Amino acid sequence: MAGDRVIVVGAGFSGLAAASALAGAGVEVQVLEARDRVGGRTLTRRLPDGGWLDLGAQWIGPTQDRMYALVAAHGLTTFPSPAVGRPTVCWAGRRLDTAPESAGQVFATLDGLAAQVDPAAPWRAARAAEWDRLTLGGWLDATAPDPGTARYVGRLLAGGLLAAGADEVSLLQLLFYLAAGGGTGSLLEMAGGAQQDRIVGGPATLAERMAAALPAGSVRLDHPVEEIAHDGTGVRVRAGGEPHIGAAVVVAVAPALAGRIRYAPPLPALRDGLTQRMPMGSAFKVHARYPEPFWRPDGRSGVATTDAGPVTETVDNSVPGSPTGVLTAFSYGDEARQLRRLPVAARRAALLDALVALHGPAAARPADLVEYDWSADPWTRGCFCGMLTPGSWCDYGPQLRPPVGRVHWAGTETATRWSGYLEGAVAAGERAAAEVIAALG
Ligand SMILES: Cc1cc2nc3c(=O)[nH]c(=O)nc-3n(C[C@H](O)[C@H](O)[C@H](O)COP(=O)(O)OP(=O)(O)OC[C@H]3O[C@@H](n4cnc5c(N)ncnc54)[C@H](O)[C@@H]3O)c2cc1C
Repeated sequence: MAGDRVIVVGAGFSGLAAASALAGAGVEVQVLEARDRVGGRTLTRRLPDGGWLDLGAQWIGPTQDRMYALVAAHGLTTFPSPAVGRPTVCWAGRRLDTAPESAGQVFATLDGLAAQVDPAAPWRAARAAEWDRLTLGGWLDATAPDPGTARYVGRLLAGGLLAAGADEVSLLQLLFYLAAGGGTGSLLEMAGGAQQDRIVGGPATLAERMAAALPAGSVRLDHPVEEIAHDGTGVRVRAGGEPHIGAAVVVAVAPALAGRIRYAPPLPALRDGLTQRMPMGSAFKVHARYPEPFWRPDGRSGVATTDAGPVTETVDNSVPGSPTGVLTAFSYGDEARQLRRLPVAARRAALLDALVALHGPAAARPADLVEYDWSADPWTRGCFCGMLTPGSWCDYGPQLRPPVGRVHWAGTETATRWSGYLEGAVAAGERAAAEVIAALG
């Protein structure tokens, strides 16, 4: 098997996990990464006060065992997300400590439906065709006990999980995501859920260590892959004008970006169709830095959700070792697109108004407001992940994982557990590596 070189496209967590599994099996591996850094949708900005900001992915939680194992294997540690005190729920113009029971009832109904979906084959669910045609927004309008609950749940689930509006995602897409992530409790909670822990130093540090642990020269930065030619004898991958020859290639990028690479011969119609129907989400993640976490003395956790306005939710994103208080705000779907259209000063004003509405007048004067627009980044083009458009799962979903000749597919979007998350990215990379090893014998 040694001597059969495998090319990996992309040095995000999925590409790095694939490369590490291949190298561990004695396979020569060459990772080609478009950016001048590894880590993909993780990006850590280190600050002079000893703190840092995670501009991309940041949390891991229970059952994401691969991520905890990687953190430990690379000499890093985690800390619990700060969430001490009461959350704030803005609902119909009122400030509450918890969401009304009606929201919990809708979550329970959705969890019941998600239990009927196999995340490895959502198209096989008995009602797959019906759920694929229906948007989450349409389903909520017909099912939620009142319009306020429909709006709140839609913003939280389509937004908080898929960075989209409730009318942009099918019910089947959401049920797949719930099934892959263990249900609404597992996906939405801080303690006990996907937002439980953060990595000291940020996940980008972990990506750097994963890359450093590969054999020297395995990762080439600034190598955007333009073309993949493949036949029965091997693959020829062109990056930055240079050819790279291998026995197989693992494409570890989101389907929307995989569709921008040229393939020779061209991809089969349904596989190319998948890449056309899996747009990236639309999120705005903004960090407001304050001299101290001013919300804590009032017994507030900094966690807020709201049924209106440009910001859907906030969290306390302060880190140990820094006195600074960080409130991170998330805006999704249409609201994120509206923010994106505004000039910087108007966007900043809109964000601060929203923070004041959630956390009071002290939120009006951050020392700093830091944003990073993943939709503008040519090597991501949106976040948190790609999702199939309504009506597409049944026809195109089955094309997500099967290799096309010697071209194998990784990336978090292809995961069957924790799809859309770092854990899913790692699992998908390991799955693709195992597939290649089996194919090459
Ligand atoms: C703002 C934000 C918040 C998030 N929050 C969380 C969170 O808290 N927890 C969590 O688990 N997940 C979170 N996610 C999702 C998580 O970041 C992704 O699931 C994960 O990073 C995807 O990894 P990947 O390797 O599949 O893809 P990517 O990270 O996108 O990696 C793909 C790599 O391929 C490169 N590439 C693209 N095209 C080419 C090409 N043609 N040639 C060469 N290289 C190419 C890219 O530069 C990139 O490095 C968040 C994402 C964002 C953006």
